[in-house]
Amino acid sequence: AAAASSVILPTRAAPVGSVLLNFNESPYGPAPAAQAAARAIIAESGRYLFPLAGELRNLFAEQEGISTDRVRLYPGSSEPLNRAAVVWTSATAGLVVADPTFEALGDLAAARVATVAKVPLRADGAHDVHAMVDAARRVDAGLMYLCNPNNPTGSITPAADVAWLLANKPAQTRLLVDEAYLQFSAQPSVIAQVMQRDDVIVLRTFSKLYGMAGLRLGVAAAHPDRLRELASLGDNPLPVTALAAGLASLREPGLVAQRREQNTRVRQATVEWLQTRGFRCLPSEANCFMVDVQRDGAGFTKAMAERGVVIGRSWPIWPTIVRVSVGTEAEMEAFRTAFAAVTGTRR
Ligand code: PLP
Repeated sequence: AAAASSVILPTRAAPVGSVLLNFNESPYGPAPAAQAAARAIIAESGRYLFPLAGELRNLFAEQEGISTDRVRLYPGSSEPLNRAAVVWTSATAGLVVADPTFEALGDLAAARVATVAKVPLRADGAHDVHAMVDAARRVDAGLMYLCNPNNPTGSITPAADVAWLLANKPAQTRLLVDEAYLQFSAQPSVIAQVMQRDDVIVLRTFSKLYGMAGLRLGVAAAHPDRLRELASLGDNPLPVTALAAGLASLREPGLVAQRREQNTRVRQATVEWLQTRGFRCLPSEANCFMVDVQRDGAGFTKAMAERGVVIGRSWPIWPTIVRVSVGTEAEMEAFRTAFAAVTGTRR
């Protein structure tokens, strides 16, 4: 009986009822219209419904002001990220990433024996584009990764730095800009560059602001030659529920502004609470931030989880600094209670 019941247990690692502030997910889930669209299309999901993907691609391209041949949909942005590592890095073509940053691309490139150059972020949290260009020359980089806003910091690399990078990077080094968290920030997108150049790949995801992490939808935008290279690893039709919810999200006026505002308000209140109590936070414009907990980050994360608040982790370069995802107001209230108890700070 025990074995049978384990089959239907939720697969979440944390105990049921925990506050989950660990994966930069949306605490709000898909917008109501997106949920309704996903529910409604399940009856038709015996079909691939290929035209739906075209409809979404066209709407995305129109809203971003780029041509439809520069847009390709994937089930999340992890997939094109993985493909980029496979297609553009190798034993003879290195990768340049920031440190810390989202590790998926670097881990896969390293596993495929590419040389991965990790360039520490600047003190203000921006990518150090000058050092990244030097590193690109050093490792004969086939690919450079710029996550803006960055994960785990939520920090911004200013448009002027990105422009300098584009003007000064080696010609054979492609630039992959991961804009997973862009909608939470005031940062301009670099997506228009895909109309001008053939060496820039921009990734977007519906997992974060649109709250569709479990539904799986992402976009790669690039010159058609680059999209063909990514697609050379094979095709995989998209879940129709994700397409329907994605279309409904793009068609929802005000959704981005409303969720951005909500996230900013809750993040700023939490950061202010921490700073007032002497815990330094790094500047963030995303749905996560990093706080220096002035003790071993791994032990701190464990102590928080024991109090029912599951936060992100620390990165090897900064062992006392942990990442916290921004939840709802009520979830951040639970975070503050647990944080105060673990650190012995006033509530
Ligand atoms: N890129 C960044 C910077 C992320 O933080 C994540 C997920 O946390 C991803 C890509 C992958 O997300 P998904 O595959 O859900 O789009």
